[in-house]
Amino acid sequence: MNNRNLSTLIFNKVYKRLNIEQCYICGFKGEGNLCSQCRTFLTPNTHHCGQCARPTLVSIDICGQCQSHPPAFKSVIAPLVYSGLTRALITQAKFNNKGHLFRPLAKLLAHALLEQLDLSKPWHWCVVPTGRSSLLERGYCQTRFIRKLLKSHLKHTLEHPFHTFDISRSQERPTQHTLKKKERQRLSAKAFTVAKPAPDYVILIDDLITTGSTIEACAKALKQAGSKEVIVVALARTPSQTSEPL
Ligand SMILES: [Zn+2]
Ligand SMILES: [Zn+2]
Repeated sequence: MNNRNLSTLIFNKVYKRLNIEQCYICGFKGEGNLCSQCRTFLTPNTHHCGQCARPTLVSIDICGQCQSHPPAFKSVIAPLVYSGLTRALITQAKFNNKGHLFRPLAKLLAHALLEQLDLSKPWHWCVVPTGRSSLLERGYCQTRFIRKLLKSHLKHTLEHPFHTFDISRSQERPTQHTLKKKERQRLSAKAFTVAKPAPDYVILIDDLITTGSTIEACAKALKQAGSKEVIVVALARTPSQTSEPL
């Protein structure tokens, strides 16, 4: 175990012991780790494509991109637009070793899932695997951490047990945020290894969706391994005009 991994573990233990229940942004106590006032700085993904959740000016059933290249996933649930405070929280959580900042965003995602997900299906909860270099850089896998947070919010509400299913990366690639858009779009299902048979119903968890290339490759690999339905869930979706690399 490296030092960062250890520090994340220690932080989580301290967090639990102190049961910190104050707003991470302004310090206000009594409303959880993101108070109602600070929550107004998050931009909800209100209008979007009904399939890929790409933010649009008005809500549409399906965007041009989903029409011309039908995705392997059925739909995307991403309750926030990646801008302003959402962007700041995710950036700090991912790149500055402040994983706890995922907590308020995962809570909002859990609420969105309770509203939008068909809870009668026996879902298997899968994460977009973090590359080895990112793991070494960050010391933890952020998508697994988000899955853990979702489990703690949802386990008593789901109609079926919270089953997990893991896929892996077939080869190491540069991290997504360092790739240009065209390079990301070349990511294929072969980039991921999925044990067969994959579960029928899969929830695929990512932290942030930019071009959608990674989730599409994962969803395709899952479908090729036997999944009937893949729903992608993420904390946030980039607005179209800034869907270039971060
Ligand atoms: Zn606050
Ligand atoms: Zn779309």
